[in-house]
Amino acid sequence: MTKHYLSKSKIMAGRQCEKRLWLEVYRSDLIEYGSDVEQRFAAGDNVNDIARAQYPDGVLVSYDHGANAAVEHTRRLLTEQPDTPIFEATFKAHDVLVRVDVLKPCREGFELIEVKSSTSVKDHHYADSAVQTWVLKCAGIPVKTIYLCHIDNQFVYPGNGDYRGLFHYEDITEEVRELIREVPQWVQRYREMLNSGEPEIEMGSQCEDPYSCPFIDYCRGEETEYPLRHLPRISPQLQNALTAEGIEDIRDIPEGRLSSATQERVRRITITGEPELTPETAEIGAYGYPRYYLDFETIQFAVPIWEGTRPYQALPFQWSCHIELASGELQHEEYLDTSGNAPMRTCAEALIETIGKEGPIFAYGSYEKTVLNALIARYPDLAEELHKLTDRLVDLLPIVRRTYYHPDMHGSWSIKKVLPTMAPHLDYGSLGDVQDGSAAGTTYLQIINPETDTVECRRLVRELLAYCEHDTLAMVELVKYLSK
Ligand code: SF4
Repeated sequence: MTKHYLSKSKIMAGRQCEKRLWLEVYRSDLIEYGSDVEQRFAAGDNVNDIARAQYPDGVLVSYDHGANAAVEHTRRLLTEQPDTPIFEATFKAHDVLVRVDVLKPCREGFELIEVKSSTSVKDHHYADSAVQTWVLKCAGIPVKTIYLCHIDNQFVYPGNGDYRGLFHYEDITEEVRELIREVPQWVQRYREMLNSGEPEIEMGSQCEDPYSCPFIDYCRGEETEYPLRHLPRISPQLQNALTAEGIEDIRDIPEGRLSSATQERVRRITITGEPELTPETAEIGAYGYPRYYLDFETIQFAVPIWEGTRPYQALPFQWSCHIELASGELQHEEYLDTSGNAPMRTCAEALIETIGKEGPIFAYGSYEKTVLNALIARYPDLAEELHKLTDRLVDLLPIVRRTYYHPDMHGSWSIKKVLPTMAPHLDYGSLGDVQDGSAAGTTYLQIINPETDTVECRRLVRELLAYCEHDTLAMVELVKYLSK
């Protein structure tokens, strides 16, 4: 039996799904990270930098020369500078490698501090810290207290690089100590599993919990055309019960087996293979002209960069608006702030100036209303005008959800699933690198980065504008389809 080396991240991958761990070890060529993951990694780096700045005398253990060099560097620091906080302190025991975000000396031992970009302690953080603490314990390091250092989402950035108060330290020593005795069992189990073939595990809620798995595309390739997980809000209990009965595809679920009306509707339409559009949709035709179709793009920062903003606040930097006149003429207006300064106010002002005094403003989902309400709260002098816009908002999502379903939507009413079934020529796949909100955020960050060269910047601006325009054009097509 091969004794596989494990790291904390490998063990955590196994806790999410053993197949994920197996694939990470044997088929890392299949890993595909989405743009949301890239954003999360970037946010994590930034958070770590700010956390380290709270310990000005701390020393970083580099990983540039590999694990053994990092372990040796840590050992030397502990001997030669026993009072110094260590960042990325690296330890190995029982062939398990861990790197501790901050190891801080205290009376008769150490404080182990794990830095996270989340805004609260999550269940998986306890297991994460238990693995760290177990390895340190095996390596002879006395850990007295374990802290989870996470973002305080009530922090308001005062500017000038002052991040005091950004973090909240939670003592999780008790919870972690209870888990530590389980760690050797996890390690043994994963080693045995890695000495066997690829585990047969169905896709399910674990694929997105606690993180989006990088093997989703691979596992989807093995799935049936209409897997059970596409039933809206299917509970793990129901999914497990159906699977135990040998049912893997929505079309094989017997009539009367589902108690949820929405799930039954999806089952029925998937079996017929025919889309369903109820006559109720005709009410959309009653809305007058001009009609506005609005979409915002927003950015969120774990570590706020603009004065007066909080962590993870959705801050608009761009909008697109299609305007449909009674004559059938379609106009397009857009706004994108590339200055790198706080873009929220200019976004709001440009919108007020562009959108006329009357006519419905269509949006897909409640997000545009949330963004407008946040702008109202932030800029009281613009509140009256912005309120007039929210009063005219018409959310298309509940209308579509109530009146339309196509088997190709696979249980989702997101605009990206609905649009190809109504207007295949407007498929999001036809866009460039920016095809979703996460990629839009990443692209915006590249644009405002002074190190991005001018030519690349222009290309990114074009991509971003095209993506947002596509979103509002999608709504125009959607309303046209529903009004037929
Ligand atoms: S996609 Fe889901 S089933 Fe496949 S490896 Fe990842 S978590 Fe496991």
